[in-house]
Order: sequence, then C-alpha cells, then structure tokens
Amino acid sequence: MTNLDGKIALVTGASSGIGAATAMKLAAAGVKVGIAARRVERLEDLKSRIEAAGGEALVIEMDVVDPASVEAGVQSLVDAYGAIDILVNNAGLMPLSDIDQFKVDEWHRMVDVNIKGLLNTTAAVLPQMIRQHSGHVFNLSSIAGRKVFKGLSVYCATKHAVAAFSDGLRMEIGAKHNIRVTCIQPGAVATELYDQITDPGYRQQMDDLASQMTFLQGGDIGDTIVFAAQAPAHVNVAELFVLPVEQG
Ligand code: NDP
Repeated sequence: MTNLDGKIALVTGASSGIGAATAMKLAAAGVKVGIAARRVERLEDLKSRIEAAGGEALVIEMDVVDPASVEAGVQSLVDAYGAIDILVNNAGLMPLSDIDQFKVDEWHRMVDVNIKGLLNTTAAVLPQMIRQHSGHVFNLSSIAGRKVFKGLSVYCATKHAVAAFSDGLRMEIGAKHNIRVTCIQPGAVATELYDQITDPGYRQQMDDLASQMTFLQGGDIGDTIVFAAQAPAHVNVAELFVLPVEQG
C-alpha cells in the first residue's frame, strides 16, 4: 500500500519503452493507469501484464497529434475512473540527422509529437485537474533539453521547448490550482527510440554509444516518476536529471 493507491494516471506513449515501464511501475504502486498510444495490440499486451501483476489499466487508443483523439481518450479515462491525478506526457520520437540533409518531414513529426502532442494532452487533462484542485503533470524532456548535440538540432529544440513549457506551467498553475509539474530529463535509455533513426551514420553512432556504456532501463525512469509522485503533497520535485553513470 502506497500513498498513490487508488490514484488515476494517464501515460502517453505507453506502448513501449519508458511509457510502458512507467505504467507498470505506477500500477505496482496502486495507480489505475490509462495507457495511451496508437498501437493498441501493444497496449492490450501491457494491460495483461499489469493485470497479471495485480494492477488495473485501461487501454486508450490515442494519437497525441490529433486533438479530437486526445479529447476522446481523456474523456474515456474520466468516464471509467472519475478523475485524473497524474499525467505522464511521454510520447515522443527522435529521428537524428544533420540539418543539411533537409529531412523536413522528420523535423515536422518531432515538432508535432514532442511539442504539439504534449500541448494537446496537457490542454485536454488540465481542466479536469483544475476542477479537482489537484494533480501532477510529468513532462518527458531529455538531456537534449539541457544541451545541444550535433545531429539532434530539431530534437533538442523540441526538448528545450518541453523544459521551458514545464517551467512556465509550474509557475502558472502550481500555486493557483495546486497542480505539481515535474520535468524529467533522462540520458540514454534502452528503448525503441533509436530504431527510427534513418541516417545510417547516426544509427551506427547510437549503436556504438550503447556498446560503450550501460544504458538506463525504462523502469529506472518509471521509478523516478513514482518517487516524485509519492512526495508529500506540499513538495514539488520540479526537475529530475537522470543519467547512466557512464554518461558523465
Ligand atoms: P519509444 O520509441 O520506446 O516509445 C515512444 C512512444 O511514443 C511509443 O509508445 C509510441 O507509441 C509513442 N508515440 C509516438 N508517436 C505518437 C503519437 N503520434 N501518438 C501517441 N503516441 C505516440 O521511446 P522512449 O520510451 O525512449 O521515449 C519516451 C519519451 O522519452 C520520448 O519523449 C523521448 O523523447 C524521451 N526520452 C528518451 C530517451 C532515451 O534515451 N530513450 C532519453 C531522454 C528522453 P505508438 O507508436 O504506439 O503510438
């Protein structure tokens, strides 16, 4: 039994990686989890694993880029459980490339999912939290939201935007509506994020990095989120920068 027992969460990008692991961790802490993404079969599998471990989950098909899909998904969670206490804005992608390759479609997809998608879910969930006069929003930024890396210019721009928005969100809604905001900035985590890199040079670079250090696991970030969510109600863990030891 934890102080999260019976709370309700929405986790976006729950079909793999950090989102799936975070949903498992939250469910293990007693949270009823709305697991949202586009690949429903993956979510059904996660739901089975959560239930097998004694937890509770609701599968929500959601494309965070589409405000109507987000609204419908959020409504289905409220209809099922009556509240939303925790939002984990996790959906994101990171196709690396140099700017002069002009992979403009990939730039747009990153802006659409990493920034606009996060804004869509925030806009859909906040009114519910404001009505409750309580809530906790977790935004997945990155080490790339603190530093800029070659080949990650657009990704870094999106993750800096997430960090900036998290700060502003906390300042505007924290005290006024009793809503906590935590910006999570992981270093390298072993997930499917790197599978979408279409540039062979950068793909190789990420494979080399993985052979040089022990990456974090998604569950390490899930533990971090549970830690901040479990803090006493007057404590807002505003930022968490979590790295593999060998990432320096
Ligand atoms: P994964 O590729 O494993 O997971 C990404 C998730 O985002 C998937 O569940 C995917 O679901 C979802 N997603 C993508 N597009 C959409 C969309 N349009 N609508 C809804 N869901 C979508 O990557 P990670 O777990 O690593 O990434 C999670 C977050 O963590 C991202 O924001 C990433 O930037 C951040 N991060 C990751 C780090 C790492 O090293 N892995 C480091 C720092 C931050 P589906 O395709 O089913 O819709």
